[in-house]
Amino acid sequence: MTGLTLDTFKQMLRHALTRIRERQDEFSQLDATLGDGDHGTAMVTAMNAAVEAAEKGTDFKTMLSDMGFQVMMQTSGSSSTLLGAFLLGMSDCAEGTLLDAAAVRKMFAGGLKNVFSQTKARKGGKTMMDALIPAVEAIENIQTDSIGEILEAGAQAARAGAEDTIHLKAIFGRARNYGERSVGTADPGATSWACMLSAFAETSNRG
Ligand code: ADP
Ligand code: MG
Repeated sequence: MTGLTLDTFKQMLRHALTRIRERQDEFSQLDATLGDGDHGTAMVTAMNAAVEAAEKGTDFKTMLSDMGFQVMMQTSGSSSTLLGAFLLGMSDCAEGTLLDAAAVRKMFAGGLKNVFSQTKARKGGKTMMDALIPAVEAIENIQTDSIGEILEAGAQAARAGAEDTIHLKAIFGRARNYGERSVGTADPGATSWACMLSAFAETSNRG
């Protein structure tokens, strides 16, 4: 795939919702150990709002902005704020109906930049940032014009980052209350964001 169409992007989002639904109990279980046990439900609710808003989209910028606002309106705690911020940041840096490799990199970088404005968490804080930051770095750095390869690099980096959160101590969100006891359990948000980014790559590498 040399360009990302709006239709393929919508398929990526639908597939991400399917994958997150399939694994929602696992995400809630992790959050039951480190937080309040609602992360699976929260991500399904947020992604569902994003997919519904995307269906009506006719260009990247307006569609991503509608998605971001709809997600932000969900009352599902940290997840909707962070995913909403990511989508609004993507909207700031995307336009038209077809994105080439450079435009895809720019869109993901824009998403991360806006999440940076919502949280002080960075790499090593045992949050979704441990999946998202390495994913966007990989997306920006991989030397290829293939969008499938770009998204696959992001997915691999996100999964590795999420795995690494097992060994980290939580210092953000509800999980920080568990201190040393948070070591040994993967962060729910890092795990679900890695799932979402992996679903993006799975879709783009099929078509
Ligand atoms: P809530 O904590 O409001 O119940 P969720 O359970 O849906 O929200 O999401 C929990 C996840 O949100 C955590 O696993 C973590 O990845 C992420 N998170 C929580 N607080 C922060 C924060 N301050 N910065 C970045 N990510 C955070
Ligand atoms: Mg929770």
